[in-house]
Amino acid sequence: MPALTLDGTKIAQEIRAEVAAEVKTMAAAGVRPGLAVVLVGHNPASEIYVRGKVKACEETGVYSEKLTPPESVPTAELLSLINELNQRDDIDGILVQLPLPPQVDSKKVLLAVDPSKDVDGFHPMNVGFLSTQRPGLVPCTPAGCMEILKRSGIPVAGREAVVVGRSDIVGKPAAMLLINANATVTVCHSKTKDLPGVCRRADILVAAIGRAGMITRDFVKPGATVIDVGMNTVTDPAEFQRFFAGNAKREESFRKKGSALIGDVHPEVAEVAGAMTPVPGGVGPLTIAMLMFNTVKAAKMRRGASVPELSRA
Ligand code: NAP
Repeated sequence: MPALTLDGTKIAQEIRAEVAAEVKTMAAAGVRPGLAVVLVGHNPASEIYVRGKVKACEETGVYSEKLTPPESVPTAELLSLINELNQRDDIDGILVQLPLPPQVDSKKVLLAVDPSKDVDGFHPMNVGFLSTQRPGLVPCTPAGCMEILKRSGIPVAGREAVVVGRSDIVGKPAAMLLINANATVTVCHSKTKDLPGVCRRADILVAAIGRAGMITRDFVKPGATVIDVGMNTVTDPAEFQRFFAGNAKREESFRKKGSALIGDVHPEVAEVAGAMTPVPGGVGPLTIAMLMFNTVKAAKMRRGASVPELSRA
């Protein structure tokens, strides 16, 4: 039997509807959550991501403001912009779209964001809050992975979880969230020995690698839940065929666009896994939904309200 498809688009819509209802209640009480998005220069991928974030704000009723310093902006100027946003009471969330141009000290800029407005959850203070299980802002993509598990009724406590990838924005926080939810967690990376063998131990396998279709069926225990965070663009027709030969819908789309989006998990894994997120339509839509959730959470926490930790079991 093919794996159950974990529909991220549907789960993201649920969360966005919950956020919109919350924003309405807050607005009635005179508070409108606000998000500032800082987009430096003209990176085409970043422009698309930011457009999606601004649109999500419009749909959920969150106030949004886009700030667009030029590609040549020096670190000091960006720091003073962040500082202004830190001071403003109508701004609850500050998101600095990455990557920043090479002349900018990205770490310094991210460190300058007030941790209470750090809706990406990248500030070391929020990283510390997460690892010590204190209320704080949790990185959106890993928080979205936990929402998929929770809202699909997949148990986490007491189970073996393997995370492939140890980046600060996905792998490490995903591992921390799984630990906090009482899974037994192994984190793998490019130096891990016998990666397929380690992955086969997983009841829950999270792939956050950035390599198209690397997780094949040999990496997956029959019946396991597979969460595919990867977003890779394939343009080579031979490589495309390796993944999607015989899939008429994907073949037609590839012919039209000349490219295809593929995760880190090979589609053949659907024959082995018990449940699996698709790409597109899996983890991706959750990232923006959790950004909206975090903006509302920041707005409430900054005003002294306690907020249930959605992404923690
Ligand atoms: P990253 O910073 O490049 O980290 C990749 C991780 O994978 C690293 O820890 C690396 O190990 C590990 N890795 C690379 N090759 C490996 C191999 N052959 N075997 C085992 N481990 C290997 O990437 P990221 O920012 O975490 O993103 C990962 C993927 O998720 C990308 O495809 C990205 O586009 C996608 N993503 C999606 C969303 C979304 O909204 N869906 C959001 C963020 C990211 P080392 O540490 O040893 O180098």
